[in-house]
Amino acid sequence: MKLIDRFLKYVTFDTQSDENSHATPSSSGQRFFAEYLKSELELLELEDITLDEHAYLYATLPANSDKDIPVIGFIAHLDTSPDMTGKNISPRIVSNYDGKDIILCRKKGIALSPSKFPELLNHVGEDLIVTDGKSLLGADDKAGIAEIISAMEYLKVHPDIEHGKIRIAFTPDEEIGEGACKLDVGKFGCQWAYTIDGGEVGELEYENFNAASAKLTFRGRNIHPGQAKGKMINSLLIANRFVGLLPSKERPECTEGYEGFYHLTGIKGNVEESILTYIIRDHHRDRFNARKEKMEHLTGIINSEFGAETVKLELHDQYYNMREKVEPVMHVVTIACAAMEAVGLVPKVKPVRGGTDGAQLSFKGLPCPNIFTGGINFHGRYEFIPVQSMKKAMDVIVKIVEIVNHERDAIYKKTFGFGG
Ligand SMILES: [Zn+2]
Repeated sequence: MKLIDRFLKYVTFDTQSDENSHATPSSSGQRFFAEYLKSELELLELEDITLDEHAYLYATLPANSDKDIPVIGFIAHLDTSPDMTGKNISPRIVSNYDGKDIILCRKKGIALSPSKFPELLNHVGEDLIVTDGKSLLGADDKAGIAEIISAMEYLKVHPDIEHGKIRIAFTPDEEIGEGACKLDVGKFGCQWAYTIDGGEVGELEYENFNAASAKLTFRGRNIHPGQAKGKMINSLLIANRFVGLLPSKERPECTEGYEGFYHLTGIKGNVEESILTYIIRDHHRDRFNARKEKMEHLTGIINSEFGAETVKLELHDQYYNMREKVEPVMHVVTIACAAMEAVGLVPKVKPVRGGTDGAQLSFKGLPCPNIFTGGINFHGRYEFIPVQSMKKAMDVIVKIVEIVNHERDAIYKKTFGFGG
């Protein structure tokens, strides 16, 4: 099957992104891979193929209809996670999985076991693509790329499926949070798009955290401890007091679903000066704002206890929940759900406890929910993807294109999915 051959070819490219680089793309392997994909899109005779200086690759599958059909897009990312090497990936297909442990690397004793990863048992009887235990697999997001390109090819060889103009884009550096910034939404020219970058088959996401970072700098006064009485101010202890003032149950390790948190990500300091860094996360904008206000309030408490300007707070918003941009165009989600149902899946809509490229894009004016690739255990050696899930993802893309055509009038009237 071409879909799987494509995927197995793509993972041979080392496209690990580099957090320490300030260039885009952050690693040369991504450009190399983008150039390879460009030649593949040329062979498929897609149109308007452009690869820009930052390794953003765009292409068009032209409409095969004169009707006024909304232009939609599909997006996936070129890079793999900096968390684990993406070099010399040597995948293997476990056919007709029997539900037992899969030995990834006999020498190192690395196994993919349902006792640790019970989701394996949802895929008994399927064909699983796994790693050799020495690298990640790169299904995140090369599966997304393979699924999009294969769907475009399918639509090309099935001209009986009437469709509007389809745009595709492959972007660098998603894993280091830079993927959406240089995507040219105007040039992409879509009413809406989908990132194909999610996990387990059936997943659909259009809600993510609102996110801010906080940096607190505590000023102390250092004196020789032998002569410190009444003079020393230990900034470490004041910082510790601040940590104790935040609600102890509102931490990542105590929260799930729609529960937000304050996450202490760093402490450094000495008697003279201490710095705490936090990230603040919440799906609800009001509660998100309340969390930032709480930080300000506690800063005020510390300054009234220990003297003005003992602590300085710097807050920065990082990204917002795309829900507020997607909800006014809810047909975007309804269509994806309908496409999943049409190919025999039950859509699993869940909030992302993090950010996505689609969130940034939604705020740049391109509503952009995230659809599954089928991959599981991203960013590490236990990453795997069932062949059958990849096929479903490709089918969902084709089906979305079909539904957008069939429902074009309802979409323009914005009645689709609203019981109309
Ligand atoms: Zn991804």
